[in-house]
Amino acid sequence: MPDLTRLSKRVQGFTESVIREMTRVVAQHGGVNLAQGMPNFPPPQALVEAAHRALDGDFHQYAITWGAPNLRAAIAEKYRRFYGMDVDPERNVTVCCGSTETMLSTLLAVLNPGDEVIIFEPFYENYGPGCIISGAEPVWIPLEGRDFTFDPDRLRGAVSPRTRAIVFNSPNNPSGKVFSREELEVIADVCRRHDLLAITDEIYEHIVYDGEVHVPIATLPDMAERTITISGISKSYSVTGWRVGYAVAPPEISDGIRRAHDFVTVGAPAPLQEAAVTALRFPDSYYVTLRTAYQARRDLLLGYLERAGFVCNRPRGAYYILTDVAHFMDRYGIQDDTAFAMWLIRECGVATVPGSSFYAHGDLGRAKIRFCFPKTDDMLRDAGERLQKLS
Ligand code: GLN
Repeated sequence: MPDLTRLSKRVQGFTESVIREMTRVVAQHGGVNLAQGMPNFPPPQALVEAAHRALDGDFHQYAITWGAPNLRAAIAEKYRRFYGMDVDPERNVTVCCGSTETMLSTLLAVLNPGDEVIIFEPFYENYGPGCIISGAEPVWIPLEGRDFTFDPDRLRGAVSPRTRAIVFNSPNNPSGKVFSREELEVIADVCRRHDLLAITDEIYEHIVYDGEVHVPIATLPDMAERTITISGISKSYSVTGWRVGYAVAPPEISDGIRRAHDFVTVGAPAPLQEAAVTALRFPDSYYVTLRTAYQARRDLLLGYLERAGFVCNRPRGAYYILTDVAHFMDRYGIQDDTAFAMWLIRECGVATVPGSSFYAHGDLGRAKIRFCFPKTDDMLRDAGERLQKLS
């Protein structure tokens, strides 16, 4: 056991991200990695060419710490184009290193030690450590049932005098839930009534299925003044390694995010910010193709999983399928989700993420594992065929 006493209390409780651990383990064993959610196909050629041009140009030194002006202008323009949002690039937009850093800088900007933050679970694994780093305490609200809905009274009842914000991710990783307008109204109502901030991770905004529509909560009445809308280029343009994300927030909160961000990373990569402008200006048809391609991948993997006997939740958005594996665990005498995920790597050569990574109450994820599908058909078929061993 390593000696942890030389580490801060803050990080002593952190363990390696299970998502990245699974990527490492499958690389050792060999097999198909449906754990860490990242495409195995190239980004749009026009975007890669834009990056080449930026590298050949004069974009080698720091950009303005809170984002290159032309990128902030493109972000503001895109929010107007898609959602009719009135975004001022000078006062509302901050560019960070991926939406993960954007979330962290946001939490650092608005939370004090002792504050409480309401987070829906299952949740994307970074939000917990993000709160701990900020000294705040997460208060968890379960998303339950096949549709991952929440009980409005439970949400209202979770608010205390120390509550400062509600954090959620829609479309949701790992459940594939897309918060409906009615649900957003309930959250907005709680925010307005108790003067809370809504902090939303909307990184999968363009990946929605079956005619589903993504609604930013910032577009609801009186919510722009109390919402931090976080997104980025990773998922919409298949460049998860570029680390360009951003927040749209009211001016005084943008100022706070910029202060935190400045001391955390100084700035996102300048040439990639320049290239991102090209992506944000892609025509509407780009997003139709993106959605259609992801829906086909979803259907392909879902078919294999169901034939293999997994109990699947059909995602409405994002690129993950959360499955229930309780019956497999019973059949093969496996104790929990982590053991099951390890077993699946050994037995079938397919890496997934154990469900408990997405729950504060690990028991809720004990019989679940998550598959991701931002993969080419041949890779999804390979994984799908391997899993038929279980059927
Ligand atoms: N967002 C991706 C996922 O959920 C990758 C995250 C990560 O590397 N932790 O798989």
